[in-house]
Amino acid sequence: MFSRISPHRLLLITAFFAALMIIMTASVYFPIAYFSGDKPFDGYRALRDVQHQVSLGPRTPGSPGHDQIRNWIQSELIEAGWSVQVQSLEYAGKTVHNVIAKRGQNTPWVIVGAHYDTRFFADRDADPSKQTQPVPGGNDGASGVAVLLELARTLPDDLDREIWLVFFDAEDNGGIPGWQWIMGSTAFVDQLQDKPDKVVILDMIGDADLNIYYERNSDPDMSADIWRQASELGYREQFIPLEKFSMLDDHTPFLEAGIPAVDIIDFDYPFWHTTDDTSDKVSAASLKAVGDTIRAWLIGVQ
Ligand SMILES: [Zn+2]
Repeated sequence: MFSRISPHRLLLITAFFAALMIIMTASVYFPIAYFSGDKPFDGYRALRDVQHQVSLGPRTPGSPGHDQIRNWIQSELIEAGWSVQVQSLEYAGKTVHNVIAKRGQNTPWVIVGAHYDTRFFADRDADPSKQTQPVPGGNDGASGVAVLLELARTLPDDLDREIWLVFFDAEDNGGIPGWQWIMGSTAFVDQLQDKPDKVVILDMIGDADLNIYYERNSDPDMSADIWRQASELGYREQFIPLEKFSMLDDHTPFLEAGIPAVDIIDFDYPFWHTTDDTSDKVSAASLKAVGDTIRAWLIGVQ
């Protein structure tokens, strides 16, 4: 016998299988995290933020690009739901403007920082005629800012801990008359009332050929935790668990104040302090490797 299916029932069955196909396809393209309200770190959006910063020209202290980027950082943070303040401090004869975004309460209190300024002179450029031009700061400046902003957009807003994202001014003009290195972070630590539990600095982390080694002055236990987190996420090629460089960077004033701090930096960057430090040297994959790692570490850190 042949049982006839009514057109109405046939339509329902077709609709059911069509819906099933859509769900199965969607679950392949959008990981389960997407459905649970978790927002994945978008490396391409971070890369567009690098390109945006470089498109505004140099972000040297006092330049129009410096003001524009500081305003843009604030508006992106406010849109992402963070409470934001600009901290203007006098330090060594200059005024520095740090941007501080805060969220959450309780412990641990973790600060993630990056510098948003760029260097006045590309004094490492091989071409002497370019050594008086400003550094575009695609990697040295823009990459750390881009990862911090994407963290601001994608970190869960109900974490039971206090997180500050700090955009430091005037990191990058040491050796230039009238300036010092790490002025914004030094002024920031000078006026801190309490000690944060942990500090992570991101600097020059966008190089398409990303090789991040343990920085020798950084807190070894925190470094091991972060590199382990990277390895668990499949980023062992980018986070290499070996010591290589000793850096003076925005983590230094925290370490000097007895606060555990880590500098995440890829100092194997041939375009450092040259006019070739442009956004085409930066990749979405590298920004995502660092962003995914720090995001997961922040969610799990005790
Ligand atoms: Zn620099």
